[in-house]
Formats: sequence, C-alpha cells, structure tokens
Amino acid sequence: MGDNFYQNVSGLTLPAFIGHGSPMNAIESNQYTQAWTQFGLGRPKPRAVLSISAHWYINSTMVTAMHVPRTIHDFYGFPPELFNFEYQTKGDPTIANEVIEAVSPTKVDPDLESWGIDHGTWSVLCHVFPDADVPVLQLSIDASAPIGFHFDLGRKLAPLSEKGILVLGSGNVVHNLRRIDWSLPDDGFDWAHQFNNEVIEVMTNDVSKVLEMPRHQSFTLASPTPDHFLPLVYIAGMLHEIGVSAKTFVNGYAYGSLSMAAFSA
Ligand code: ZN
Repeated sequence: MGDNFYQNVSGLTLPAFIGHGSPMNAIESNQYTQAWTQFGLGRPKPRAVLSISAHWYINSTMVTAMHVPRTIHDFYGFPPELFNFEYQTKGDPTIANEVIEAVSPTKVDPDLESWGIDHGTWSVLCHVFPDADVPVLQLSIDASAPIGFHFDLGRKLAPLSEKGILVLGSGNVVHNLRRIDWSLPDDGFDWAHQFNNEVIEVMTNDVSKVLEMPRHQSFTLASPTPDHFLPLVYIAGMLHEIGVSAKTFVNGYAYGSLSMAAFSA
C-alpha cells in the first residue's frame, strides 16, 4: 500500500472500475445496470468524471478537453435505438488541465476533436448519472505501453481524488469475444471463473498484485487483447497510492467469456 499521505480517505472521491459488457446495457435494466445506478446514488456528486474506457485504445495518452464531447457510437450490429442514443453532458477543459498537471512529467496531450464519449463510458454513466449533470472527460489508454506504465499512471492520478474527480475504469476483467457462447447468457466458462476470482482476490486484498495477473494461466484466454483489462490496472494503481483496497459491488458473467465484476473502494 502507499504511504500515509491520504489519511482522510472518507473525504476523497475514490475511484471505481465497472465491467460494462454489451452496449445493450445502456438501454436495458438488469442486475448490473441496477448496481451501477445504486453506485451513483450512494455518493456525493463528483465535480467531474474522468473515464478510462477500453474503447479509447490508441498509441499515446490523451485527455478529452472539449467543452461539449460528442457521443460516439463505436459498435456494429446493434438496434437503431442504440445508434440514436445520446448522452448529452459537458466536458471541462479546466479539469483536463488538472489531469495533465497531475501526471506531469508523463506526457498527456489534450484532445479537442478526435474523441468524445464512447460507449464504454456512456453505457455505464447513463445509469450512474442518468441526468448527465456531471462533466465527463476521457483518458486514452496507450496501447504501446507495458502494464507497469498504466499502473504508475494510475498512481499519479491519485491526487484527483482530493479534487472531487471520480476516476472510473470501464472495461471487463474477462473479455474474449471470440469465445462468446450465446447459450450461456448468465454464465462463465471455468477459466473465466478462475481468472475473475483471482482478480477479485487481488482487488480486495493487495491491489499491487494486479501486475502479476498477466502470468495467470488463464490470462491469454481472459484478456486476448489487453484493452478491456487495462482500465482496471489504472484503478488498482490509484488505490495502491491512496492505500486502500476495493470491494466488489457487483459480480457475474455473460455469454461464457465476459465478466461483469465491478469494484469500488
Ligand atoms: Zn467494451
């Protein structure tokens, strides 16, 4: 755990990780979306949300800095209702600067036009903050960087929790679309359970051990591409720096190869 700098943990806006699953969760109500709603109701409104979504996976770290981020429909083959969905919230260029300064000298560039709010963010936030009355920023994930870089960047984000900024990781602990089995809408394969249970153990006991997860025997099945796993690594780094572990606030499986586990401090 980190040093004793963060003593008044109850005064912090502590980060969270949510397993977002299918984009359909934006327009459905189920045990996961209801838990996300309760998560939003159970805490004071933050000044802003900084979302680290699996779906902004590029070759550098950027933070959205536009006044009004667009809703991005980054998926195929879903009903028109989902393509027409708009999460109309604001950005906040001042907070983008606070993010850039918090992690300096690690270089984070402001993004004014390439991104916005992708479905990893809005399919969750439309339940957490249904009135869209909290400014939302996104931080991209640098696909070229090793896992330790993401953990360390998470550590550097820790001061944002003192500034009322909710850092939200949105991905899935287990995410293997090639192994999807439509006959298992609410179940997971054995390897998915093994990996997910180990991550729960790590997040609730010693978050720094998230760095050892790539050596788990089921890692390549659970995370064939690291995009959905890495948002969790940022949250683990941040929790490590603050000196707290997480609680699992909802857990379950979808279509064999997705875990819906979510963690908050
Ligand atoms: Zn996703």
